[in-house]
Amino acid sequence: MKHDLLLLTAPVPDGIPDCFPHLGPAFLKSHLENLGFSIRTINMTTMIRSHYPWFNPHRKAVSQLMAIEPLKKYLRGENVENVDKAAGILWNLLGENISAKVFGFSVLTQYSLPIALAMASWLKRRQCKQRVIFGGSVFLEPQFLCLHRLPWIDHLVVGPGIHILPILLVKADAPRLITMPDEPLPLNLIPRFDLLDLMTSRNSSARRKLILPYQLTKGCHFQCQYCTNVGIHPESMPVGKAISDLHYLQRTYRPDNIYLTDVNLNNDTRYLDDFCNRLIKNNLSLHFGGSLSVKGLDQHSIGLLATAGCRYAYIGIETGSPRIRKLFRITKIPSSPKLEMILRQLYAAGINNHLYFMHSFPGESDRDFALTLTLARRLSWYAANGTVYPFALKYGAPAFHRTVELGIIPRHLEQSADALSCLDPCDPKNPMMIMSHPYDEIDGLSWEEKLHESAFRQKRLAEIFHYISYPRRVINMLPIDPLYQLKKVIKPYFFMDIML
Ligand code: SF4
Repeated sequence: MKHDLLLLTAPVPDGIPDCFPHLGPAFLKSHLENLGFSIRTINMTTMIRSHYPWFNPHRKAVSQLMAIEPLKKYLRGENVENVDKAAGILWNLLGENISAKVFGFSVLTQYSLPIALAMASWLKRRQCKQRVIFGGSVFLEPQFLCLHRLPWIDHLVVGPGIHILPILLVKADAPRLITMPDEPLPLNLIPRFDLLDLMTSRNSSARRKLILPYQLTKGCHFQCQYCTNVGIHPESMPVGKAISDLHYLQRTYRPDNIYLTDVNLNNDTRYLDDFCNRLIKNNLSLHFGGSLSVKGLDQHSIGLLATAGCRYAYIGIETGSPRIRKLFRITKIPSSPKLEMILRQLYAAGINNHLYFMHSFPGESDRDFALTLTLARRLSWYAANGTVYPFALKYGAPAFHRTVELGIIPRHLEQSADALSCLDPCDPKNPMMIMSHPYDEIDGLSWEEKLHESAFRQKRLAEIFHYISYPRRVINMLPIDPLYQLKKVIKPYFFMDIML
């Protein structure tokens, strides 16, 4: 069957989490099908991960396409045999009969961007008239917008695509770079998921769990200076609509769990209490989780969350250093005794905590880092798992405009004439490191020295969760799933099932 739109989410490499179908393609599917268009969405990450990892040629192809220098040559039109072959292997995964009037690539992060570009270039070399559209949240970061200059990308859409896609599907002579304004949250449609995507998503999970995302809130009222969410006006989905949408998703897709987005579910604590009360009153029996800030939680709200079905919380702690908290305006953390008490209460209520820590902030001293290590060690007893990141200087974050105050000098701020320079990894030795703009510390470390320090701190901090929280959670899971670790050997990519 020839679809109007085939919307691909290109695969990410092995170490990058991808635990549920994405909301952007599901909103597009809902809107376009309501208008009578035929659309197929495919999440290639879960498609690859639903197979056994050994002798899986698609995994190898994905990792080959992460080698940026040969990829850049290929994207410029040169013949690079191994890149062409790897991109072809990924197209083969989709089968031969897959065809559409327009091919779309939904790119969520920089990790799938090289692969999406390689696949699009491969396609255009063979079918030069085939229309290709790029979109997705990665293009909210301005450094990637220059990619619209690549001659084989017909359109690059920044922002939500639901209103422009129906036009682009019938009209070819639209601008190459299109920016669409954000939509108010209450206008969100009920997401519609592709059944094959749901199946591969379930199959990629060690415990065969299906998690569906639902957007309950938007934005954040905190002002952490490294965060690109600062400035997004906080909104909440009207409770009545949220309950009826969730009821529909539960009846239609039978998920095991719902992941409530966005970045801070308890922006408005009264709203979250109201939402939980309505879930309880409607007897929805949903299990869910999402990102919460510790400030704003208390014994009462934790009890409500647990009774309503909350089973896990993603919580940013970031640093143990009061000096760094002050410098970066991290006000979401209460005093240390209160912080520990709230995490203990969450843990006691059966809510699994996943903690986020950051290190290598500009000017972070050994003492600052030692405070972070001490705090992480103490809190890890109340965590099911944790993620550790180095500080990243990002375009959209306030830190980008306070560089002198933060004691840094960013490098390479000028726009490059080379559209593909945005693909260069900030650490050539570790292309998987989260994107940051390289900077030197004023009176401190150079970028190269900072990378070296950051690799050491990453290891020290990550070890805490690796050796304390994770094994403890696995032992606690024994009555629920005695073979979890064994299953994880066979399905090693899924990162969320330990939280469920
Ligand atoms: S609390 Fe989280 S989402 Fe909100 S500004 Fe801070 S880092 Fe960003």
